[in-house]
Amino acid sequence: MNIVITGASKGIGYAIAEIFAANGHHLVLTSKTPAALETAVAALSKEFPAVQIESMPADLSLQKEVTAFANWCLEKTEPTILINNAGYFLPGKLQDEAAGQLQDQLNTNLFSAYHLTRALLPSMLTRKSGHIFNICSIASLDAYEHGGAYSISKFALLGFSKNLRLELKDKGIKVTAVFPGAVFTNSWAGSGVDPKRIMESSDIAKMIYAATQLSAQAVVEDIVMRPQLGDL
Ligand code: NAP
Repeated sequence: MNIVITGASKGIGYAIAEIFAANGHHLVLTSKTPAALETAVAALSKEFPAVQIESMPADLSLQKEVTAFANWCLEKTEPTILINNAGYFLPGKLQDEAAGQLQDQLNTNLFSAYHLTRALLPSMLTRKSGHIFNICSIASLDAYEHGGAYSISKFALLGFSKNLRLELKDKGIKVTAVFPGAVFTNSWAGSGVDPKRIMESSDIAKMIYAATQLSAQAVVEDIVMRPQLGDL
């Protein structure tokens, strides 16, 4: 299968790339910082020398870079699975956060997925098959302290995901929304939180991989995951 993963240079995206590479799939990867993506691809190629891995850096908060990545992607392959994972967490309170914070969070956490999905969908629709994962968050489900604009952007990504699922259910294309609680990645480095208190990136990757193993007539619509001890 051809697996397109955004935000693949580190954290959850990297762990997803690893599990699909371990199972021999062709990877098409992107993330924002060129050097970080290069390092990630070198590490994956070393670990899985037989796997075909292609990559192109792009700032997916900018629609023209999404379009450039999508066009490059379609030249390289017919996407089987798209994992909209790129995103970042800016803590904030709605009253106090910086002007423009909501726009920034929407650009990266929502519009990246919206524009990329729309660009790659025609290829999936022609083949009447595909699987799209949107990495939402438990911040898509409920308000929480310091969620601010981030939480709004993740609620919006859930709205995107639900509407996509409705539109594609009779087109042979699956849609899965993933709702992780706290996962120890860069976002948590330096926070003082014990890595053993929260989840590992590979936990999320394993559930996503499992959701791709079902019959054509079954879909996992939602994957909600939390640390065993609950939210922080
Ligand atoms: P991470 O380790 O910081 O990795 C984020 C990835 O997204 C990096 O590859 C980064 O690229 C890429 N990215 C960020 N902004 C981008 C942009 N404008 N254009 C293209 N790529 C961009 O984060 P993570 O914790 O793995 O988070 C991955 C996803 O899971 C995010 O959507 C996040 O909201 C969600 N999530 C995380 C947690 C958690 O506790 N960690 C919980 C719930 C949901 P570069 O580094 O190369 O710039």
